[in-house]
Amino acid sequence: MVKLGFFGGIKEIGGNKILLEDNDTKIFLDFGMSFNRRAMFFEEYLMPRSANGIGDFLSTGLIPDIPNIYRDDLLEQIGRKPEETDICGVILSHAHADHANYISFLHKDIPVYCGETCKYILEAVEEQSQRSIECEILNFKKRPIYKEEYKNPPIERKFNTFRTGKKIKIDSLEIEPIATDHSVPGSYGFIIHTSKGAVIYTGDLRMHGANAHMTKNFITAAKEAKPIAMITEGTRIDTDKTDESEQKVYLESKKVIKDNKKLSIVDFNFKDVDRFSTFYRTAKDLDKKLVISFKHACFLEKYHRDKKLKTPDSRDSQILLLKPKRLTGTYIDEDYTDWYIKKRLNYPNIITAEEIVKNPTKYMVVLNFYYFNMLVDLKPNYGTYIHSLSEPFNEEMEISYDRMHNWLKLFNVKFVQSHCSGHISGSDLYELIETVNPQEVYPIHTEHPEMFEKLNMNTHIVSEGGIYKL
Ligand SMILES: [Zn+2]
Repeated sequence: MVKLGFFGGIKEIGGNKILLEDNDTKIFLDFGMSFNRRAMFFEEYLMPRSANGIGDFLSTGLIPDIPNIYRDDLLEQIGRKPEETDICGVILSHAHADHANYISFLHKDIPVYCGETCKYILEAVEEQSQRSIECEILNFKKRPIYKEEYKNPPIERKFNTFRTGKKIKIDSLEIEPIATDHSVPGSYGFIIHTSKGAVIYTGDLRMHGANAHMTKNFITAAKEAKPIAMITEGTRIDTDKTDESEQKVYLESKKVIKDNKKLSIVDFNFKDVDRFSTFYRTAKDLDKKLVISFKHACFLEKYHRDKKLKTPDSRDSQILLLKPKRLTGTYIDEDYTDWYIKKRLNYPNIITAEEIVKNPTKYMVVLNFYYFNMLVDLKPNYGTYIHSLSEPFNEEMEISYDRMHNWLKLFNVKFVQSHCSGHISGSDLYELIETVNPQEVYPIHTEHPEMFEKLNMNTHIVSEGGIYKL
């Protein structure tokens, strides 16, 4: 018997954890964090307590209360006994937090299967962030952590990486990962061959990106598998076809930056390698240096390892690293205690805001909103800022968005929005599902599952914690 269980992130955008059972074989498809549900209870100064293990996460429904899946140490912290796991693996579709992050809580004996590049990105995330209980994907420290144990090495999780063409065998299941196009490299859709027939899981994908052919290959293979069921994302099921594309972002941005006679600032998600390539190309075309942060350098160096991505090294002649002001504010070596900065202080291509100010038109600075206090040093008066990210879609983002505009007004900086979504439009998605033609459709990762009923297909509006037999 084959069963599907849906936990978290089902009627919202992201955070899904899908349990697939084929007789005695149980696997999870993604185990993500739901931003929406988290924001219902927590904010900057009201956080889930790591001192309470998984207690706060279970109580607020951020993770499901299922036996045999969680870490021994986290169970013991809430007074439960450790359990042996019966989950054979987590198949991770891509490195976005709403798909990956709550792997952090899973039992150490559950192996994780993900794309090679997906693992690189998880490594880059780890390199430049502080350890937190919600981001212990690659490895974790047994809790509680007593003072004398601070220096103890973490417990590494078992990872198995794949590329398209490789088949994964987990007991009776055979899983075919096929690379798809999404706003992060190393994203995959899956054909899962069960004892009842093929089940398709789309992960997150799109048809309008720079690598649409990859999504097309996935669709073709999915159709050929004659699936009995398809679990599909539906982030933008309520949108019609648009004219958005990476090429459009490139052309718009290039024009804006070319016309700008002052400092150019851009912001985009560094996990989006296509967007990086767009701005890198723009910088090259306009003979400007692309100034990135030390955090970005961690990602770039990982991308550079994947020759298929064709991205430069962080020490490329077109790239500079912006040195942040720390401690004494005088840029001396001892100011830097974070290892990801410290180990790169000997790079030849490091620049300070003071040097940029001397000749601002020579540069394009990649500056995230959380580093906007650096605008005080960068003095971007009458310059241009390209916001190459999605527009705010919740209350918290609106507040940050207003604050961002206050900063830009302070320096009379022109605001330009130019972005192309990582998710498939509604009309493309209807077409995709009709082409694949599964016997049953399970929409997830969507606020509008009812819109899938438009399809003349057997569609299940799944409920949180619901178990469905195939
Ligand atoms: Zn995603």
